[in-house]
Amino acid sequence: MKEAQYIWMDGAFVAWNDAKVHILTHTLHYGNAAFEGTRAYKTNKGLAIFRLQDHTKRLLNSAKIVAIDCPYTQEQLQRAQIELLQKNHFEGDSVYIRPIIYLGYGAMGVYHKNSPVNVAIAAWEWGAYLGEDGLQKGIRIKTSSFARNSVKSSFGKAKISANYLNSQMAKYEAVSCGFEEALLLDENGFVAEGSGECLFIVRSNKLITPPHDNSLESITQATVIEIARNMGIDVEERRITRDEIYVSDEAFFTGTAAEITPIRELDFRVIGNGCRGEITTKIQNAYFDIVLGKDKEFSHYLTYIF
Ligand code: PMP
Repeated sequence: MKEAQYIWMDGAFVAWNDAKVHILTHTLHYGNAAFEGTRAYKTNKGLAIFRLQDHTKRLLNSAKIVAIDCPYTQEQLQRAQIELLQKNHFEGDSVYIRPIIYLGYGAMGVYHKNSPVNVAIAAWEWGAYLGEDGLQKGIRIKTSSFARNSVKSSFGKAKISANYLNSQMAKYEAVSCGFEEALLLDENGFVAEGSGECLFIVRSNKLITPPHDNSLESITQATVIEIARNMGIDVEERRITRDEIYVSDEAFFTGTAAEITPIRELDFRVIGNGCRGEITTKIQNAYFDIVLGKDKEFSHYLTYIF
C-alpha cells in the first residue's frame, strides 16, 4: 500500500505511522463500525472527489442503522475529507478515501452503547481494484458457496465492518479457486452482488441490474443507471439468476473501488465473446469521463480540492 503523510483522527491530522488504536478497541472485537469507500481523481483542475456528499450521507446512514451516534455532522466530515486530501499533496491519478466511524477503547462486552465513538479518515493512492488488465480484458468470477448476508439477520443497506466477513470469505474462496472475484446470491438463489461490487448484465442491448433487496445501495450503480438512460440505453432493475448471466451478451461489476470492470467468465462459462463488450466499453468510457471532470453534464458530482 502506498502510504500518505497524514490521517485524520477525531478532528486532528496525525502522521500516518502514528494513527493507532488500542488493542481493546471495541470494534476490533465485535465488528461494529460504519465506513465508506470514496474516490478522488486527478482532473485537469486538480483532484476532485466523486459524489462526496452521497458517500458521506451513506456513511452517516450506515452509522444510524447500527446505532452508532456520530459526533460529527455531514458538513464537518466532508470538510475533513477535503482538508485531508489538501494536506497530503497527492500526485497520483486516483486516491481512495476511507472514513470509518468506530467504537473505541473504554468498555468491553457486546453491549456497545458505553463505548466511545471515534472517527478516522485515511486516504491513499490506489489504482484499479481488480487490476488494470481486468478493466481492459475483463475478469473471471465464481458463484460463491456463501449466500449474501440475510436481511433477516444483517443490514444490507449499511456499509458496516461486520458485513465484510461474508464478503471476505467469498472472496477468499473465489481467489483460492483461481478466480478474481466472487458473485454472491441471496438466500433464494437470486443475484445479490459481488464481494464489493454491484452487477450489471446486458441482454439484447438492455442493461439489467438487481434491485437492492439484499445489497448495498451502490453509488456507482446509480451513476451507471443515469449514464445509460442518458445514452438512451434501457435499464431494467429486476432479479437475475446465475444462468441468465451465463447467456447474457455482456456483464460487468460496478463499485467505487472496482469502477466498471467487465466480467468475461462466470463459473467457467464464457460470457458473450469473452472480452469487454460494446455497451460495457461505452459505459466505462462515460464513467471515466465523468470522474475525470471531462463531462460538464455531470460536473455537479465532483468536489474539487483547491
Ligand atoms: N456492494 C458492496 C458489498 C460493496 O462493498 C460495494 C463497494 N462500496 C458496492 C456494492 C458498490 O458500492 P459503491 O458503488 O457505492 O462503491
